Amino acid sequence: MISVAEFQDLMNRTYFDKDSKRGPHGTYEWLREEVIELGDAMQGKDRQALEDEFADVFAWLTSLANILGVDLERAALKKYADGCPKCHLSPCRCVYRETS
Ligand SMILES: [Zn+2]
Repeated sequence: MISVAEFQDLMNRTYFDKDSKRGPHGTYEWLREEVIELGDAMQGKDRQALEDEFADVFAWLTSLANILGVDLERAALKKYADGCPKCHLSPCRCVYRETS
């Protein structure tokens, strides 16, 4: 098992050269495409395909963070380690909303 930071470092070593050449906007477009593919996989019954799309979304999110110099683990924990960023509780006690 590796941490998010270790995974981000792995992606950095594996793809940083290609990701930097593509740049943040091109990499963001790849991430968007993978999110759409995740949504498509949710419509099916193929569990492996669903897991693959989660992996792709996470990998592209991490690539984007690498080229923008964002420490994903630090950023996520800074915002969510103490529970919901709005009500500061865990579980969240904010008013339930179906969509954002
Ligand atoms: Zn809340």
